[in-house]
Amino acid sequence: MKCRIQINRPDVVDATIHAIDKTGIIVTVYGSDKPVAIPLECLMDIEKFINKDGEYFIPGTICPVCGFENVTFDTEIRTMNPYGAGEISVEVVNNICEDCEERGDFNGVNDVRIEKACQEIVNKRASESIRKLHDMNIATIHIETSLGIKIGSINRWITEGFPMEAYALLRFIEFKPSLIDIAKAGYLCVDELFEKEEENDI
Ligand SMILES: [Zn+2]
Repeated sequence: MKCRIQINRPDVVDATIHAIDKTGIIVTVYGSDKPVAIPLECLMDIEKFINKDGEYFIPGTICPVCGFENVTFDTEIRTMNPYGAGEISVEVVNNICEDCEERGDFNGVNDVRIEKACQEIVNKRASESIRKLHDMNIATIHIETSLGIKIGSINRWITEGFPMEAYALLRFIEFKPSLIDIAKAGYLCVDELFEKEEENDI
């Protein structure tokens, strides 16, 4: 399948599509003999396909309602603040079926992009929180043993991806580091607090 793609804006080049699936496409750009794989989630950032009417489209995108391939798209910037970790802006895609006017993310690329951006900001913010706790002389290993987390988990999470639930907990610890001591003491003072409240009730 021949197509025209826009790689270095505003240059539009001719290319041949060899394969298309849900993960991306394999193309050879005219003038080169080396096929290149382009993941679908990158496609809309760097390569834009243009149909006969000069509209951008993504080859292989099928309208889920009418089943035709006459699908174009536009993009919008969505801002969010996941877990209060900081504001992020993500470019999301709205596919538009030119035949039946159905709109949506037909290839499911937005969830992947949003998740990736959220994870990046959470990782960044989590390592800042850990650094702050270090400055307060609270060692990573102390947090791990107090909470009963496997030693080494926190550093691994910082490199591999901080779990969102753990990050939410970390925010509380950063806000009130004495929570760590409560955990270390087996949550005894929490029980005591409840006992006191019960006594007061009587
Ligand atoms: Zn349609």
